[in-house]
Amino acid sequence: MMMNVLTELRQPVGSVSQFEVVEPNTIGGEVSVRNLRGTAELLRTDRGLLVTFEGAAVAEVTCSRCLKETECEVPITFEEEYVPYTDPVSGSRIRSGFETDAFRISEDHTLDLREGIRQYMLISESVKPLCRADCKGLCQECGTDLNGGPCTDHDV
Ligand SMILES: [Zn+2]
Ligand SMILES: [Zn+2]
Repeated sequence: MMMNVLTELRQPVGSVSQFEVVEPNTIGGEVSVRNLRGTAELLRTDRGLLVTFEGAAVAEVTCSRCLKETECEVPITFEEEYVPYTDPVSGSRIRSGFETDAFRISEDHTLDLREGIRQYMLISESVKPLCRADCKGLCQECGTDLNGGPCTDHDV
C-alpha cells in the first residue's frame, strides 16, 4: 500500500488530505492481513505527514484457545507520523536528528502504509483472537480439540 505524497508534502502545515484505501493483496508481517480497506487522513505537520488510518482487514491468526489457524476480521486504526528524507520543495536532504524509529517517506516521496499496519498488528496481538466466539479450546490434559466433542479420556 504505497502512495506518492509529494503533493501533500508541498501543502502548508495543517493541510489535510483524505485517501480511500483498498488493498486486496496480502500484507505480510508477524501477522498477515489481506483485504484491507479504510480511510487514510494525511495531516501536514512541520516535520512530515501525520497519518490517521481507520479501517479493517482480514487477519490470519492462530486461535488462542484451540491453536487452529483461522481468519478473522480485525479493525485497524493507527496514527503515525511519517517523516521525509528530503525536503519536498528544495529537494535537499533533511538533516538527521529525528528519532530513528520514525516511519520514513522514501526519497521518491512514497509513503508506505504497510509499516503502520505491521506495527499495529504487533501491538494488537495482545488481543486474543478466537476462531469463533464459543471455541471450546483444547483438553488441558492431552490437547484434544474439544470443538470435535468432549475428550473421552478426560471428560469433566
Ligand atoms: Zn479455536
Ligand atoms: Zn483429554
